[in-house]
Parts: sequence; structure tokens; C-alpha cells
Amino acid sequence: MPVLNDILAQRLEQAGQSAQKRELVSQFHELGPFVMRAGKRYLHFSGNDYLALRCHPEVMRAAAAAIDEQGTGSTGSRLVTGNHSYYQPFEEALASYKGTEAALVFGSGYLANTATIAALAEEGDLILADKLVHACMIDGARLSGASLKRFAHNDMAHLEALLKEHRGKYRHCLVLTESVFSMDGDRAPLDALRALTAAHDAWLMVDDAHGLGFVHPIRADIISGTLSKALGGYGGYVAGSHVLRDYLVNHARGFIFSTGLPPATIAAAHQALLLLQAAPGRAQAVLAEAQRFTRALGLPEAQSPIVPLVIGSSQAALATSQMLEGEGIWIQAIRPPTVPPNTARLRITITAHHTPEQVDRLIEALRRITSVA
Ligand SMILES: *Cc1c(COP(=O)(O)O)cnc(C)c1O
Repeated sequence: MPVLNDILAQRLEQAGQSAQKRELVSQFHELGPFVMRAGKRYLHFSGNDYLALRCHPEVMRAAAAAIDEQGTGSTGSRLVTGNHSYYQPFEEALASYKGTEAALVFGSGYLANTATIAALAEEGDLILADKLVHACMIDGARLSGASLKRFAHNDMAHLEALLKEHRGKYRHCLVLTESVFSMDGDRAPLDALRALTAAHDAWLMVDDAHGLGFVHPIRADIISGTLSKALGGYGGYVAGSHVLRDYLVNHARGFIFSTGLPPATIAAAHQALLLLQAAPGRAQAVLAEAQRFTRALGLPEAQSPIVPLVIGSSQAALATSQMLEGEGIWIQAIRPPTVPPNTARLRITITAHHTPEQVDRLIEALRRITSVA
């Protein structure tokens, strides 16, 4: 189909001109903070397994045992044949940790957000979303058919103004935010959001993808999240009331029409959650190390393991990433449209994989390469 390919090639060419074209590079992640890319070994600071549970021996053993017992797949969607025996104890443990009545696991965090928002809201409803919420919350809002408006990032005065002006024209209102913002690492003012949504008869949904283990507890009508970051595996979830869970089992299309996760995936996530709960100090130590890192470079104090080093143009961010590569350090440049125009950045993550000496190595490399501190 030459016509299709011509059109696609043309569109790609346009993206390439603004240094935004992305490519997949095969990587080999060692059990620790090193990654092999194109035959070279790098110390990397881009991963989301903040607590290093991806390669904790007990988590790996739990996954291996589940494979030995039930094989690699779940055989079907959870409503048909895929609701294997690892799900219920994990969902109960997750709800208990989140302080909610119930929890429901989805195939991924992306699916949990899109499917839940699309199931809860409809035409005639209003969705108010923080300007920086993850793409999947916006995709869910679009799928729902509700009217979508954005409020300036963490700007409670703007949110209040939108609620005052528009709330009365719609049946229901859903407010979307994140506990820790994925590309900036800062936190939402959750108490103020709760007070505002309560005062204006709106529902609050918080995506806790990056907050698990770091922001606790969270009080909201709906909490969503992922098993792929601090828990080091794969999958997503929603936590809330029993009736919310029942409703989603019956209405969330991304839940109903997608295969259940493999037994090993749930067994690993469960073991990772137990470890996270047993040692809350693990997250505290990671946060303290991230704060030592930001102090050393004179950056705004870290509020999570995510530290953005905003550079500006996509070209400049790529160039900085390449200079670090020359130092044996790998940090992915994050470019628009993932972040707003002219805020291309290095998104640095400090994790339990890294020793203080490795963090020092990054500090020194950044001092040499950039103008920070
Ligand atoms: C990563 C992420 C998701 C998607 O979760 P997956 O499990 O990777 O699909 C959703 N929301 C936020 C804020 C994220 O950072």
C-alpha cells in the first residue's frame, strides 16, 4: 500500500524535524541499576522501579512458583476463565493497604484509567483535569463523551473558578489529578482538592501511579494506580468502595473485554506489596537520597524519587542526554508531546538500586555537562 506508506513517511518526517521522532532501542536490564544498550553498559537513572522490587529475590521466587503451578497465561478474561486464584488475596491486600473497602486489578494502569473514567462519566457530565495528568486519564475522559476542561497545574483557585462557573450546568462532575506527577515529581494538594470537590458536589479521582509507598494514605472517591512502578511488575488497579468495584466489573469495557493478567504477574505484585508494607523505611530512604541529590545541585527539593532537569528545546535535551551517555550514564530525554512545548527535560529517577557513590557519580557528571550548581 504505497499511498498509506507515503502519507505515514511524510508525517514521520515532520516529527523528525523537531527532534521529536522516537525510536525503540533494545535494552538488557541487569538485576540492578545497569543497562546494556547497543552493546554498551550504562548506569541508568530512568527506571520507575523506585524500590528495586523488580529484582528482589522473594518477588522473583513468587513469580517462578506461580508459573510452575499454573503456567504462563490466565486463559481468558476475568469474567470468563481468567480470574485465577492469585487475584482475590492480592486485591484484598491492596485494598487493605490503600485503606479502601475494595480494589480491582486491570491489565495495566493505562487500561485502569481509561476504562474507569469512561465507565463513570458520560455525555452531560463534566470532567475537570489537572493540566499535567497522564495521557491515559485524558484518553478516558475523551472516551467517556463528557465535557473536558483543564485547570492549571495544582492551581486550586483556577479549579474553584471552573467549578463555580460550570458545575451547575452538568449532571455529575469528576475531578482528575495525580498523587505524584509523572514528569515533574511534585505532589498534588490532596487535602485542598478533597475540600473543593466536596464543596461542589464533585468526585475526586487520584492516579497514584508514582505515589505508592511515598504518599500515604490517600483519601479520594476513586484511586487508580499501577503495579509497574514501585511494585516492579505489570498491571493496574482501582481502589475504592465495594459498589465502585462491582460497578466497574459490570461496566468498565477495558476490564470486561481484556484477558486477565498471568498468575505470576499477580503473585509477584502481591509479594512486592508485602515487602513494601513490611519496610516503609525503604521508600523514605529513596526520598532522602533524592533530596540529597537536589540539594547538591541546587534544584528545588525532591518531593518524590522523580527529579526533572528541565532543559528547554528537544535538541538541547537530546544533546545533554548524549553527553551523559559519553560518561557511561543513561538518562532518557523526555520531549513534547509527553511534556509541554519547550520544557524538554531529563527525567531523573533516584531508586533503591543506586548506591550513594553512584548518585555522586551522576551529580559530578551533571556539574561538568550542564550549568547546574
Ligand atoms: C505509567 C503511568 C500510567 C500507566 O500505567 P501502566 O501500568 O504503565 O499502563 C498511568 N498513569 C500515570 C500517572 C503513569 O505514570
